[in-house]
Amino acid sequence: MTDLYAVFGNPIAHSKSPLIHAAFAATTAQAMRYEARLAAVDGFKQAISDFVAAGGKGANVTVPFKEEAFCLSTRLSERAARAGAVNTLAFEGDEIFGDNTDGAGLVRDITVNLGCALAGKRILLLGAGGASRGVIAPLLTGQSAALFIANRTAEKAQLLAEAFADMAPVDAGNFAKTAGNCFDVVINATSASLSGEALPLPPGIFAPGALAYDMMYGKGETPFLQLAREQGAARCADGLGMLVEQAAEAFFLWRGVRPITGALLAELRTGLAG
Ligand code: NDP
Repeated sequence: MTDLYAVFGNPIAHSKSPLIHAAFAATTAQAMRYEARLAAVDGFKQAISDFVAAGGKGANVTVPFKEEAFCLSTRLSERAARAGAVNTLAFEGDEIFGDNTDGAGLVRDITVNLGCALAGKRILLLGAGGASRGVIAPLLTGQSAALFIANRTAEKAQLLAEAFADMAPVDAGNFAKTAGNCFDVVINATSASLSGEALPLPPGIFAPGALAYDMMYGKGETPFLQLAREQGAARCADGLGMLVEQAAEAFFLWRGVRPITGALLAELRTGLAG
């Protein structure tokens, strides 16, 4: 019996998730099918209901439905509850279990694929939207020495810092407020790279040996990574590894098997470069 999974979004044609999960299924010998499904902007709930009725076992959820998936879930993982958004659903009887694997994917990419331990590190997280919110708890769980959230709209960064203050003290403000500090890991979770815009970051924020990480992928060197390189960041990485690792985490939740990601990641990177 072949189990059915899908990713729901709008738009969805660009999604690499079907390719990633097909590769995971092949390498772990899982009998499953995984499709991309376009849901109408006001039709997510119905699309999920139809999918479950057709025997769907699980789903990934992407823009703009992550908050709606959170509301639709009848049970949440702690990290999804913290994130206020769901990117992975598992259907079991009447239950809709909602999880968020984005943060775990980011942390795994940084710590395992890039070999950069987070414990004791000073982290700067740029942006205060959905992607930023989804990764804060997993970053704090990594026992970083300090987390600073900087955003164009400072109030949004401050609200996020308050929402996670029970886990660890978090600094927050606009980009200018980071002046005078330096960080070991700087993560761009803004969508500025999507439009090719540079962030007004003060000089001197990259500590010696710093890692600069842009969640954006597939656009070559983004303005953020260019600035990081020019300011002396020792390593630069895009978000392709996060994409693959959040998928692996969802796959593990559904199938109980953790796929090996290294070869697929290298293959996708070659495809994007070509
Ligand atoms: P949101 O729309 O929720 O948030 C956008 C954030 O970017 C806000 O903090 C906003 O600031 C900021 N921003 C937008 N434009 C600019 C600009 N020109 N200058 C400075 N700040 C700006 O988006 P998401 O959080 O969902 O996504 C953010 C990025 O993360 C996207 O590029 C997305 O592709 C990527 N992503 C990658 C994933 C992966 O697996 N690699 C997974 C999830 C997301 P303000 O509050 O002031 O408006």
